Amino acid sequence: MTLRPWHDEAWQRLQARRQRDALPHALLLAGPAGLGKREFLTAFVQGLLCQNPHDGMPCGECRSCHFFVAGTHPDFVRLSFGLRKDGVQRSEIVVDQIRELSQRLAMSSQFGGWQVATIDPADAMNAAAANALLKTLEEPSTATLLVLVADAPSRLPATIRSRCQRIDFVAPSPEESLAWLTAQGVRDPSAALLAAGGNPGLAQAWAADGALKQRSEVRGDLQALATGRGDAVEMARRWQGADPARYLWFAAQAATDELRARAEGRKPPLDSALSDEALDDWYGLANRARESLRGPLRADLVLLELLAAWH
Ligand SMILES: [Zn+2]
Repeated sequence: MTLRPWHDEAWQRLQARRQRDALPHALLLAGPAGLGKREFLTAFVQGLLCQNPHDGMPCGECRSCHFFVAGTHPDFVRLSFGLRKDGVQRSEIVVDQIRELSQRLAMSSQFGGWQVATIDPADAMNAAAANALLKTLEEPSTATLLVLVADAPSRLPATIRSRCQRIDFVAPSPEESLAWLTAQGVRDPSAALLAAGGNPGLAQAWAADGALKQRSEVRGDLQALATGRGDAVEMARRWQGADPARYLWFAAQAATDELRARAEGRKPPLDSALSDEALDDWYGLANRARESLRGPLRADLVLLELLAAWH
């Protein structure tokens, strides 16, 4: 089990609290996907339950570690999206799940140590679930730890956030990211890191799955539209069929690069006829379109509207 280099500081701080017997009852691991929150979480929780940890890291060999790795540790609950009665996975965490969790945490530990529960993604709790969790947070039992994981912590109620010790995961410096990507065997780490907006975990995943090609594809499409070639309907269909959220991320990024090139007096790569102000608006439109993919709107219409506004 390895932590990412940029986890060091938060890890040491948390282990120091553990040694002082001063762990909080609730932790919130917050920050964008791709920075290793879940690896951190797993190492920390397994290390907390382990009977023979070294510097907080689990030994991997004791009875507790075996149960943990098998997913059957009696003092560990992992809460995520449950199933509806018809067997379909829910898209939110609901109040019954939180009530059940609270009952379970109220019972005593089977191994005589900590009882730990994780809620991931915590920002997917609906209002009733968050309310129920608040009660649990207000009356913590001893030797229980709740760990909330959220890519978008601002979606959590402030009342929940304020009762958790928060650990923020932020992207490390470009130098540290590039060194890590190189060590992971990523072939063109600079291009991958640029595409992923400086997020090394995303860069690693994207370098492996063809995202860099999609990035060029988006730029090619926008340039074709700007120069009067290309068919927005066909593009919208193609973007939708692949990974619309990622295409929209790259579209917004392309608009920023176009603006930056103009400001720096370089030849703008996309030949857009939009004014600076209109480009800036279009950037906002692309980001809102990405957000709206989560909602009930049809993705093809959202994409088409955006592409129609590009010149
Ligand atoms: Zn162990």
